[in-house]
Amino acid sequence: MKLCTRCVLPETFPGIRFDEHGVCNHCRTAPSDERNERARHDAEGRFTALIREHQGRGCYDVVVGYSGGKDSTYSLKVFKEHGLRTLAVTYDNGFLPDGTLRNIRNVVEHLGIDHLLVKPRFDVLAKVFRRAAEKALFGAKAAERAADMCTACIGFVKFGILRLAIEMEVPFIGYGWSPGQIPLSASIVKNNPEIVRVTQRQILEPLSELFPAADLRPYFLEERHFAKPDMFPYNVSPVAFAPAYSEEMVIEAVAQYGWTRPEGVDSNSTNCLLNSYAIRVHKERWQFHPYVFEVAKLVREGSMSRDEGIRKMAEAEPEATVKLVEARLASPGGG
Ligand SMILES: [Zn+2]
Repeated sequence: MKLCTRCVLPETFPGIRFDEHGVCNHCRTAPSDERNERARHDAEGRFTALIREHQGRGCYDVVVGYSGGKDSTYSLKVFKEHGLRTLAVTYDNGFLPDGTLRNIRNVVEHLGIDHLLVKPRFDVLAKVFRRAAEKALFGAKAAERAADMCTACIGFVKFGILRLAIEMEVPFIGYGWSPGQIPLSASIVKNNPEIVRVTQRQILEPLSELFPAADLRPYFLEERHFAKPDMFPYNVSPVAFAPAYSEEMVIEAVAQYGWTRPEGVDSNSTNCLLNSYAIRVHKERWQFHPYVFEVAKLVREGSMSRDEGIRKMAEAEPEATVKLVEARLASPGGG
C-alpha cells in the first residue's frame, strides 16, 4: 500500500493526491510550525480571558466529558490548574474496561473533582452499534475522521453534556480532544444553537428508524434548551493547545494521579473496548483505518514519529477484545 512519504495517509484515503515526491495534498497545505505555535499561544490567551469573563456563573465553571482516557485526564489537570470548579462526567457505553473505572476513581480523588457516571440504556446503545456494524450510518465524509460506532457514541456524550451544561448554566464544556483530533481553530468554540441543531439532526436522523423519538429524548437537546441561547457554553479542548504535545508527555503527566494503561484495549484507545471492534468494521468497509487522519496529523506536526504512526496503523486489533464485543452486542440484555 502506497503511503504519503511525510505523514502516513494511504492511497485508499478519500480524495488523496500525491506529488512527484510522494507527499500528499494534506501535507502540502498544512500550516507551518510557526503559524501553529502562534495559534496555540493565541488559544491559551483567549482561554485565560474567557475564564476571567465567565467564571462563577454556575455552581461549576466547567463540565468535562471525561472518558477516563489519557487525554481527557490531562484536560482535568489543566482545568484544575486554572482554578476552575470542575464536574467530570463519564458515559459508560457498556465497554469501559475495569482498568478505566479504576483510573477514573484514582484521578478524580487525586484532583479533588466531583464525578458523575452516566449509563444510558445498554439495549439502546447496543442496537445503535449493531446497526453501525451492518451499514454506514453517517456518510463517507464522517467516516474519514472516525468509525460510525464512535461517532454515534460521542453523539450521546456531546449532546448529553451540552444539555446538562445548559441546565446547570455552566459556562464551559471541557473535552480531551488531542491536536490530532481537532485543528487549533476548533480548540475553543462557542456553541451556536443553529449549528448544534443541525449537527444533532445529523446524528438523530439515521437513528430515528431504530427507535421511537421518546426513547432518544433523554439524551439530546429539546426545544426548551434551544430557548436559552445565552446559556450555550464554550467548548474548550486544552490538550489541543497544550505545549509540546505527545502521547508520552501526556501519559507521564497523568501517571502521577495513579493513571495506568488498562488491559484489553488496542493502541488507539486508552479507555474503550468497543474501539477495537469499531476499527475492524471500519477498515473492512472503507479500506482505511479510522484513526489514520488523526495519526497523520500528529506525525506531520512532529508529535509522533512516522515509524510509530505506521506501526499503529498496521497493528491488528486484539482478537479477544473483538470477540468479547461481538458476544456482548449479540446479547444486549445480559453479557
Ligand atoms: Zn501526507
